[in-house]
Amino acid sequence: MIFSLNDKEIKEIIAKEARRQQAGVELIASENFVSEEVLQIQGSILTNKYAEGYPGNRYYGGCEFVDEVERLAIKYVCELFDVRFANVQPHSGSQANMAAMQALLKPGDKILGMSLNEGGHLTHGFNLSFSGIVYDSYFYGVDEKTEMINYDHVLEIAKEVKPKLIIVGASSYSRAIDYSRFRKIADEVGAYLMADIAHVAGLIAAKLHPSPVGYADVITSTTHKTLRGPRGGLILTNDENIAKKIDKAVFPGIQGGPLMHVIGAKARAFKEALSPYFVKYQEQVIENAKTMANHFKTLGYRVISGGTDNHLLLLDVKQKFNITGKQAETILGNVNITINKNSLPFDQEKPMHTSGIRIGTPAVTTRGLVQKDMIEIANWIDKALQNRENNDVLNEIKQQVELKMEKYPLHKGGIL
Ligand SMILES: *Cc1c(COP(=O)(O)O)cnc(C)c1O
Repeated sequence: MIFSLNDKEIKEIIAKEARRQQAGVELIASENFVSEEVLQIQGSILTNKYAEGYPGNRYYGGCEFVDEVERLAIKYVCELFDVRFANVQPHSGSQANMAAMQALLKPGDKILGMSLNEGGHLTHGFNLSFSGIVYDSYFYGVDEKTEMINYDHVLEIAKEVKPKLIIVGASSYSRAIDYSRFRKIADEVGAYLMADIAHVAGLIAAKLHPSPVGYADVITSTTHKTLRGPRGGLILTNDENIAKKIDKAVFPGIQGGPLMHVIGAKARAFKEALSPYFVKYQEQVIENAKTMANHFKTLGYRVISGGTDNHLLLLDVKQKFNITGKQAETILGNVNITINKNSLPFDQEKPMHTSGIRIGTPAVTTRGLVQKDMIEIANWIDKALQNRENNDVLNEIKQQVELKMEKYPLHKGGIL
């Protein structure tokens, strides 16, 4: 599809990016590779249609077919997560959070979220995000010893702050989350509970990670991380009243016309996620992450919290090599292994440098890689960081990476 594109200038850029994706080991925990079907639907003529409003109730004519596609997306996602109401229009995870908060809160209300340094997301109250600007934001973190959420401590903070909304969910937390505990905490202080499952949505859909359904008042997510759909967001709830408020908050609250081509691709991705193959895929994602965490431990690395229950792990590179996460990111980038620098709990380094890196397995698992490949990749990472000043070794690793990934073609049989 890409190669029939009749625009030389952009086609060349896409070809370069396609080669980069093909030749690299993609370990960014928030990335994935979508199916051919998702790509095609997202690139379809559905993009031409304006459809402000909701199915059956639009501000434009000619919406009868895009209504069908949005209804389908809603039907599949409700089935996937076993919920009653869904809004599939948010353009991104951040927009989903913005709308959910607008539905439940007034400007100046108190929110309590996980701190960015300890795993949370910008939209959970960071001072440069709308969430920290519009709302009065407070934070909980992880326990200094276990590097996991200490629920008693969250309760203490919640009692002190008395937030109107508690946000549970993270971008770099490798452990299962006890949503029932968060529900109890929220009830104890009279707060709404919002679960942001942007990272673990795919694992939850496959029933391999606890679900916040039945505990959270509102659930937000991205569709493009473990869920392996197009770039976008969604909001779920079982409360009819809240569902109405969410619809109003998305449109006309914070967005105009929905991206119908993306909603079409979301429908396809949800349908894929309902298949037994998807469960197998997510099982492999978790196995791969566990294998990597264990292997890094045997190589003498400190794995944050001692391991992983999900699709990602955090490594302390500062302790191992006295380099920053940023330096590790660059070194590994040069051998075609893409990871991202990441602050560790109680990090002494600034967020632009960090002491750690975050490694995720969703994308490489989609390419078809399994446990033995994870060990090989972990060894490459270790060797590259070890030999960071030896260009011969680094070049050799880069060649090995490219050679290996050639065997796993992108979008041609490489999809589980
Ligand atoms: C990725 C992420 C988001 C935001 O998603 P975008 O689509 O990048 O806006 C929100 N919350 C969490 C926890 C995330 O990890």
